[in-house]
Amino acid sequence: MNVTNAIEAHGLVKDFGGFRAVDGIDLAVPAGSIFGVLGPNGAGKTTTLRMLLGIIDPDAGHRTLLGEAKPLRAAAQVGYLPEERGLYPGMQAREAIAFMGALRGLPLKEGRVRADAMLETYGLGDAKRKTIRTLSKGMAQTVQLLGTLVHRPRLIVLDEPFSGLDALNQQRLEGLIREQAAQGVTILFSTHVIAHAERLCERVAIIAGGRIRFEGGVEEARSRLRPRVRLVTRVADGPWRAALPAEAMRKDGVWQFDVPDSGIEPLLKALIDGSAGIETLSIERPGLHDAFVAIAGEAAAREMDATAPTAEELEAAA
Ligand code: ATP
Repeated sequence: MNVTNAIEAHGLVKDFGGFRAVDGIDLAVPAGSIFGVLGPNGAGKTTTLRMLLGIIDPDAGHRTLLGEAKPLRAAAQVGYLPEERGLYPGMQAREAIAFMGALRGLPLKEGRVRADAMLETYGLGDAKRKTIRTLSKGMAQTVQLLGTLVHRPRLIVLDEPFSGLDALNQQRLEGLIREQAAQGVTILFSTHVIAHAERLCERVAIIAGGRIRFEGGVEEARSRLRPRVRLVTRVADGPWRAALPAEAMRKDGVWQFDVPDSGIEPLLKALIDGSAGIETLSIERPGLHDAFVAIAGEAAAREMDATAPTAEELEAAA
């Protein structure tokens, strides 16, 4: 079935005892997109994904998965990497992948053939007949990920797929997600690492306290904030100061403020006419992290940052 949105959810609610973990979530994940669910620990991401997949039912609201109002009906076309990782330790890598495919309706024989090919492609050819317990944690996680893909699903849902991976494997996973997307597969993943979402996603949902604080394009989230000016002048003071916005702050010799309503040109003119002696003037577009702080608050953002590797760190590891 052709659907515009691979996933749609309206007003999803989930209570555990007296505690409301998910408080009225609406989502639309366009078919073929890479969609990130961003939020700190305990925000309700896992509970939301489980409801979308039909592993648990919502207390209120409804959802469709690949057009199915009963999500489990789409199970054969869905791949899911849960947050709790784990494969049978005594199984060979190829068997583990084939077994996961079989759970989604792929004949075991075909699963083994595909598993061997996938393990070769991802540089784990030597691990085919090794048991899971003899693999490193990163390798085992890759095997589980391949098991999530072996039946060639149309939709892949990955819960915190980057956690527990070193920088090199994080880089590989980003590549694999892009490859799947290039083949038209829809990818939904949750993360508390903003950098991955910023690099990979067309759209994101920012969740905090069981609610969606923002849903839309990464660019749209960033454009909610104005670009920031960073200015260093040779002369500390002068009449040109009047051209700076009232909230401009000077820290360690650097003026910082949002680009003024009137734009940058009147400011430049005042600086030049007033012989301020411009040493540095940069206009920086806010990143998704800044947007996250503005949308979900400082406290949520501090938790989000804990394990984020920079693009440079990932590059260095590759
Ligand atoms: P994390 O990455 O830490 O798992 P999350 O955003 O995925 O965070 P959830 O796992 O969905 O968050 O949990 C949301 C809230 O619901 C948390 O406070 C959690 O303790 C609670 N919760 C989740 N599952 C259950 C459950 N089965 N019983 C009771 N409380 C639960």
